Parts: sequence; C-alpha cells; structure tokens
Amino acid sequence: MRTEFKDKKITVMGLGMFGGGIGITQFLIRNGAHVTVTDVKNETDLSPSLQCLEGLPITYKLGGHREEDFINADMVIISPAVPGDSKFIQIARENNIPIDTEMNIFFKLCPAFTIGITGSNGKSTTTTLIGNILQQTSKKVWVGGNIGKSLLLQLEEMKSSDVVVLELSSFQLEALSSVKRSPCISVVTNISPNHLDRHKDIDSYIRAKKNIIMYQKHDDCAILNYDDPVLRTWGKECKGRVLWYSTKDIEKNGVFLEKDRIVISINGDDISMPCVSKIKLPGDHNLHNILAASCAAYLSGANRQNIEETITSFCGLEHRLEFVREVKGIRYYNDSKATTPESAIAAVTSFKDSVLIAGGYDKGSDFGEFAGVCANHCKTVVLIGKTANKIKELISVKKERKEYPHVFIENTLKDAFQKANALATPGGVVLLSPACASYDMFNNYEERGKQFKDMVFSLLPLLCNNAQG
Ligand code: ADP
Repeated sequence: MRTEFKDKKITVMGLGMFGGGIGITQFLIRNGAHVTVTDVKNETDLSPSLQCLEGLPITYKLGGHREEDFINADMVIISPAVPGDSKFIQIARENNIPIDTEMNIFFKLCPAFTIGITGSNGKSTTTTLIGNILQQTSKKVWVGGNIGKSLLLQLEEMKSSDVVVLELSSFQLEALSSVKRSPCISVVTNISPNHLDRHKDIDSYIRAKKNIIMYQKHDDCAILNYDDPVLRTWGKECKGRVLWYSTKDIEKNGVFLEKDRIVISINGDDISMPCVSKIKLPGDHNLHNILAASCAAYLSGANRQNIEETITSFCGLEHRLEFVREVKGIRYYNDSKATTPESAIAAVTSFKDSVLIAGGYDKGSDFGEFAGVCANHCKTVVLIGKTANKIKELISVKKERKEYPHVFIENTLKDAFQKANALATPGGVVLLSPACASYDMFNNYEERGKQFKDMVFSLLPLLCNNAQG
C-alpha cells in the first residue's frame, strides 16, 4: 500500500472506455483515496467501464463536470482525452490543486525496465510484437498503456528485472514533461499529422511526441525510423544511444534489410535472420514495425531465435489490415483501425487494384496524398461518412482522365459493402481502410470493423463439406 494517496480526496476526470481511467480509479481506491469520478459522458455511454468498477466506494458525477470537484480536492487526475484548454483544468490550477495523469503516476512508481513506443501509426502492432518476442525470453514482461491496459495495479508485483512495454499516445507523452521521464528504450515509428483537432498544430504534436526521448539518460536508447524525414532530424537531440531502422538504407548502427535477411547491427555485433519471405504481415509498413520491434526486443535480451520465431508467425492484430476471409476468390481485409490518411495509404499500397471502402468522421486531415494513392492503386473506391464528398472530389482531380478508379458515395457501411462486393472480381481484394475516425457513424473503430466482418461472414453460409454430421 502506498501512503501518498491515503485519505486524499482525488477527482478522476474522464473515466473513458480504454482502460486508463479504470486502472487509475482502482489503483487510488486500493491505496486508500476517496475518489470522485467525473465524465462528460453519461451512465449509459460509460456502462462497460462502470461495470469494471462495480462495488467500489466511488462518488460519480457523470454527464458533465462540476466546478466543486476541481476546487475541493487534494488532487485531480486527468485522462489523456481531456482537452488541455478545459475550463475545469483551469479552475484546478487557479486553486493550486495538483494535477497528474495515470501514465505520469505509473512512470514515477515503475521499478522495471521500460520500453515506450509512439508514432502516428503502427504503435499497437509494434508494441504487441515487442511483447510477443520478449514473452519467449525468461524475462517477466508487462504490456500496457495506450494499447488499452493500465499497468498501475500490477506495480506491486513488478520487479526491477522485469520489462514493461508501453504504447504511448501523443496525449500521454504531452503530460510526461511535467514528471520529466522518458522510457529506457524509446521507439518512434513515424510522424505524420494526426489528431490536429486536439493538438494546436503539427509543431505542438511533434513536441509532445518528442517527450519520449527528451528525458532519456546517457545509457538509454532511441530506436528511430530512418525512412521518416521528420525522425531523421531527431538523432542529434537524443541524449542516449540512437539506433536507426530502415527498409531502404543501411546505416552503421541499427536494423536493416539485406535481400531476404533482417540484419541487426549494433557496434559491429551482427545477427542476421533469413526470414523476410516468411513474414505473414502484409505491407512495407509492417516490415518497418517488425524491424523496430526486433531491435527493441534484441536490446532487451531477446535472442535471434526468439525474434525470428515471433515475427514469422505473427498474423497481425484485429482491425489492422486483418485478413477476414476469402469468398469466391475475393479476399476481404478489415483495416478499420486505419483512422488517418497515412495508415490507409499503407494499406492501399499493400494491394493492387483493390476495391476500397473509405471515409468517415472529419478530424481535419489532409486527404490530398491519400486521394492520389487511391487514384493510382484502386480499381473502385466506395465512400461513406462526413468526408465522402471531399475525398471524391480529390480523387477525381488526381485521376485526371483515367477511367479508374470508379468512385461511389453510399449512405451506410452496409450499402458500401454491397456496392464493393458487387464490383469486386475473383482474384481481387475488398479493403475497408477508412482513412478517417468512425465517430460520425459508429461508437468506435472496433464497432465499424466488427460490422464489416459480420457482413463478410454472412456472405455465404459456411460450406460444411468436411463436417462430420
Ligand atoms: P496505432 O496504434 O499507431 O494506431 P496500429 O498498429 O494499431 O497503429 O495500426 C493502425 C493502422 O495503421 C493499421 O490500420 C495499419 O494498416 C496502419 N499502420 C500500421 N503500421 C504502420 C506504419 N508503420 N506506417 C503506416 N501505417 C501503419
């Protein structure tokens, strides 16, 4: 039991649905705090999270915040989802109430070796790969953070010899500057404009991401994507060692490709794995994720066999370029997690002449490059949601006088699926890779992806030729 929270009146602002709010609330209660949970969402919206907290002595203020909870408190914990300019955070500040976050508290208390992963895209895939590789070693591994699991409750069991693998969002990193901590190994996958609806501009987004290397020590290490023009400039700002990874170039220290081989080369020490052709994850972007993960895991004690076995057997995460099923020679891929143009570009360029379903909530992204990629790679594009018209216009500009892709706008995902299905041909691919968040039509990207998969699975009753009665 930690004494610093005992009998303290603590307001948790933003319970949310992604685990962080639940984790910090359980942790504070376990350590003797009096907790008020407040959220703009109401009881119905939050019911899955509320169920996890059932039976705990919590005061709830839902469906909006109340000023008194930011004045009469010993501490306020804010969720990464709370906008920095919230009037309630201002009220807490004016009343000199200490403000903290779940991730900051974790960093302050964590006794283990930490690997942090951030980037605009590929965080969850890379985090999971690192965790999976390290599970093969004799080390105790904990995987959490933005991937959807708070590790605060596991702190008591953690030892200094354990490894913690943490996915870190830009919002979590932004707050980390107040505790001046960075992970022992930091992995950054790529930087592209993302969440510009929340961050003021690209510079403040990059500044937030940069906290992952800012407070590293001399014996820490940054693993950076050499193929990303923004990250290439970060090397000189790193306090510790820098290792680069690239699918195109070969640098002295880092991870690279040599024909079918992945080569990890660190200070003249090389391991070489002839396995690129055995990798199941599609796309060059996933190869990047694999190189980054191999490097981080190797530095944390994994050997060649641990790495090779994991990266050649890993089939990817749900909703990330997930192969759903093949029906009548058409392969269906669910990439609902592609909520940015960059992530959808990665998916679209993984296939030739796909029938793409895209579009959704408008978070202010620039779709110019995405439209150009669609114009060059897709046979048909079926658009839905708030951004449909914008993307359609851009594709028609980019495709100039070419016949393809044909572009359609539909009202619902179901209509879009039917249209896509009618236009796909054997040997082809139907790809859901929206390039947009889902909030205009769905609760979240998981719901969108699940609906798509349900439609794919309902295409034909499964053939039961092999059934034994
Ligand atoms: P994140 O956790 O950063 O959102 P994920 O691993 O969940 O990243 O992947 C999200 C989407 O981004 C997937 O749909 C995938 O197609 C795409 N993606 C994955 N890795 C990369 C990468 N390295 N570069 C660009 N896009 C990527």
